[in-house]
Amino acid sequence: MITMSEVSKVYGNGSVALADVSIEIHKGEFVFLVGPSGAGKSTFIKLVFREELPTSGKLFVNGRNVIDMKPNEVPYLRRGLGMVFQDYRLLPNKTVYDNVAFAMQVIEAPRREMQKRVHNVLDLVGLRHKVRTYPSELSGGEQQRVAIARAIVNNPAVVIADEPTGNLDPDTSWEIMKAFDTINKAGTTIVMATHDKTIVDAMRKRVIAVEKGYIVRDQERGVYGYED
Ligand code: ADP
Ligand code: ADP
Repeated sequence: MITMSEVSKVYGNGSVALADVSIEIHKGEFVFLVGPSGAGKSTFIKLVFREELPTSGKLFVNGRNVIDMKPNEVPYLRRGLGMVFQDYRLLPNKTVYDNVAFAMQVIEAPRREMQKRVHNVLDLVGLRHKVRTYPSELSGGEQQRVAIARAIVNNPAVVIADEPTGNLDPDTSWEIMKAFDTINKAGTTIVMATHDKTIVDAMRKRVIAVEKGYIVRDQERGVYGYED
């Protein structure tokens, strides 16, 4: 699904965000990306959906060569990826339905298929009854569940989440993690950057730890490994 070979990323100001990273993430895995602030986790994620390009190395995502890709191929790469962010990033002037359907409208899905699929993914996150609501009328946890529905509506091979529980209380965070676990059990690969020690220690998934741009640990059924 994701193969990085000797990937480095140096930003224009000289910051080394990733250094010589080689890693393989396979279909169906659930991976936690952990490490101190500034370690390179967000950069890792940005490289995968080609918001940033590596300075050197090789990167393949869903069988596509991300580095040699032509600009008109980038939308195809991103359709195979679902993104979830700490700050939800919903469109405030659209209803829950439209926020989720919007991701499908982009690929011009037939209307009936679209309605069915939007309702299905909203069911999956437990929010079908909120279809006509606007984001501002929802709690943070509900907004994040809408964002998860939006991320999976096109049935992506990989869902990438950057601190999705960072703004949520512990109970709500667990609801969000249950949604990710369900999606993963249905076969979707999950890559999640997180600072949530409780969740990582309880779920015992693969843990990749990054420090100062280097991978310092890669464990099956791993633990968070930091005190906060
Ligand atoms: P994390 O997500 O683990 O907090 P980041 O990937 O955001 O880490 O950052 C890794 C390093 O790269 C940090 O030193 C950060 O300041 C730097 N960095 C991140 N984004 C940029 C950018 N757009 N321009 C310059 N430096 C950046
Ligand atoms: P987050 O990891 O919370 O998603 P960012 O990736 O935007 O946040 O930023 C993470 C780190 O990278 C922060 O320390 C931030 O100051 C630094 N950073 C982000 N963008 C830039 C930039 N353009 N120039 C320098 N540092 C940056």
